[in-house]
Amino acid sequence: MRELGLVDGKIVDLMEPIVAMEDRGHQFGDGVYEVVKVYRKRCFALVPHLERLFRSLRELRIPAIYTAEELAEFHERLIAESEIEEGYIYLQTTRGVAPRTHGFPDQVVPRLTMSIRPSKPLPSQLVKEGATAIWLPDERWLRCDIKSLNLLGNILGKQKAKEANVFEGIMIRDGMVTEGTSTNFFVCKDGVLWTYPASNLILSGITRSIVKERLAPTLAVPVLEKAFTTAFVESVDEAFVCGTNTEIMPIVKISGKRIGNGAVGSVTRALQEQYQSLIDEECPKK
Ligand code: PLP
Repeated sequence: MRELGLVDGKIVDLMEPIVAMEDRGHQFGDGVYEVVKVYRKRCFALVPHLERLFRSLRELRIPAIYTAEELAEFHERLIAESEIEEGYIYLQTTRGVAPRTHGFPDQVVPRLTMSIRPSKPLPSQLVKEGATAIWLPDERWLRCDIKSLNLLGNILGKQKAKEANVFEGIMIRDGMVTEGTSTNFFVCKDGVLWTYPASNLILSGITRSIVKERLAPTLAVPVLEKAFTTAFVESVDEAFVCGTNTEIMPIVKISGKRIGNGAVGSVTRALQEQYQSLIDEECPKK
């Protein structure tokens, strides 16, 4: 088993220095990315991740130079050559390499880099007993729907969470709770799930869509895409964050205040179980 990179279809050593000085991703964060989880040597939810990648590229007017089939093949090749069973694949496309100037260069070819690494198991105590979070101001730009390389607001927020010794920072814009620094945020009140509407102010997560469109309907739990305040969160029964790497992580305390009775709720627990069943179904042992 070994960590590997892939540059425009060619497998490389992860430590090989391949970033050109004038790559626009390197200089401006002018590019997009995706992260796909690998379970038992299979990609989970690859199709919606690739669809979101193509959307991000379109929004930034970066031409797509590989088809979905080619990208799927690159994922497969990284898994096969690395022999990593449980891991994640990071993919990024930048606008390409050109002399530095703000406007799009006339002659520039997008550059694709990918890597595969083994994933660490999620901290089992947090998965079982719930994690803590803090409220943070949402200081990001107004196109959070694009999965762009520019993540300064997110990384500064995550660092604050790290320094506060909590699992996640949950952000607030204009008095409304948007999402986590690398996760989407849900609450459950009286058997109904609430989450911020898919808009320019959040990244519409693939895990969020799986919760909304597949898991919650199976459990007959309604989902409301509606903005809410931190005061509302004080009245809810349950809360969780979700994301590709985070899966479904219960949140039992935010900025020192307990959520519900401070224990992991039954809806969150059922969603975690459903999510695991979906992984088992989509990623059976090879
Ligand atoms: N929100 C933000 C800001 C993120 O960075 C991420 C993942 O990186 C998510 C939500 C969750 O998205 P997904 O479920 O597609 O991993």
